[in-house]
Amino acid sequence: MVLILSAALLATGCGGSRSANRRAVVAAFYPLAFAAENVAPDANVTNLTPTGAEPHDLELTPRQVEAVQSADAVLYLGGGFMPALEDAARGRPNAVDLLSGLDLLPGRDGRADPHVWLDPTRYASIVQRTAEVLGRPAAADRTVAQLEALDRAFRRGLASCERRELVTSHAAFEYLADAYGLDEIALTGLAPEAEPSARDIEHLASVVRDTGATTVFYEPLVSRKLAETVAREAGARTASLDPLEGLTSDELAAGATYFSVMRSNLAVLRKALGCR
Ligand SMILES: [Zn+2]
Repeated sequence: MVLILSAALLATGCGGSRSANRRAVVAAFYPLAFAAENVAPDANVTNLTPTGAEPHDLELTPRQVEAVQSADAVLYLGGGFMPALEDAARGRPNAVDLLSGLDLLPGRDGRADPHVWLDPTRYASIVQRTAEVLGRPAAADRTVAQLEALDRAFRRGLASCERRELVTSHAAFEYLADAYGLDEIALTGLAPEAEPSARDIEHLASVVRDTGATTVFYEPLVSRKLAETVAREAGARTASLDPLEGLTSDELAAGATYFSVMRSNLAVLRKALGCR
């Protein structure tokens, strides 16, 4: 009897049974995984988008579909950003569309623009909602305070600049532009893989010249060829501006987070826009 009891105590005290109790949270892509990890450090958070891939139109493996179906919570952005995940999550009581309830901007293709996480204030709402979904609303407070500080840094840093035109590869920065009074000119539409023609490139270069922009931004997860071609035609420079759709393996290895990437985005923007 005593032996059986102590065996039972050992079983409840071991790491295996604790991890069996950890909640399984499936997140569509990096910003949502980062939100979940921050508000629920004890949860088992899976990011569906592989490192170094970008999440637009991500296909799911059968195993990932299974993970979506068995998870305690599934965090995603609806509205056609990741249709395969939306299909797998449809009708599941634990799946939460974190775009719902946010003040959304129209995208270029008539759907809502999904890139809400690039505005720290809207991202704070996502963090809050994530904390509520995971049953611990107060756990969002620290991250929300950090996002408010980030918002203040952007406001101050971009208050007084020579230029306000933001020439980017894909239209990821509309919410950031909206929050800080910038004007985004995207070389492609909302999806980064669209291929413009030579005539388009000539037109884009003339648009860039007309705006007086001195920098064309490329992204770490997308080929920089288009940005370089247009910049060369327009006599502009290129620089990396990260839409945080995922971290590269280099960024992960260097310990980068949403906050460090956004701070370095701010530094890049200040330089490119000639901010004081
Ligand atoms: Zn995007």
